[in-house]
Amino acid sequence: MSKRKKWLIRTEKGTRFAIIASSLLEAASSVVDVSDIRVSAKSTNVRERFLSKVEILGPDECWNWQAGRFKKGYGRFGYKGKSVGAHRVSWELHKGPIHDDLWVLHKCDNPPCVNPRHLFLGTAADNNADSFAKGRSNRTGRPKQ
Ligand SMILES: [Zn+2]
Repeated sequence: MSKRKKWLIRTEKGTRFAIIASSLLEAASSVVDVSDIRVSAKSTNVRERFLSKVEILGPDECWNWQAGRFKKGYGRFGYKGKSVGAHRVSWELHKGPIHDDLWVLHKCDNPPCVNPRHLFLGTAADNNADSFAKGRSNRTGRPKQ
């Protein structure tokens, strides 16, 4: 009789744990970094589909997009029913959601690159300042030797 009671308690704990685990997963989908948590089969598929189009090299090298590109060289990826910049999707998959007002910019100045380590968030003004700085540095010529 007492054995049976123990078993019942264990079951209750198990059920409670399952409920806690599933609500943790739900909460995880809204936190910033979900890169290592498989929230759902759907998001895993997006991640796998995305990574299958990327040439992944060393952690600090450029990871060039191997599939379709936009005119300016940015990778093109079908995501949430739209054709969007692959570097933006890379940010979402590795770092988390992007506010609509923010741009995903390249430290490496290489549009097809989707290495999250080479990306940073900025405003449209940051983007202009960044390309102006890079354009100007090109015009001033080579660095001192
Ligand atoms: Zn890069």
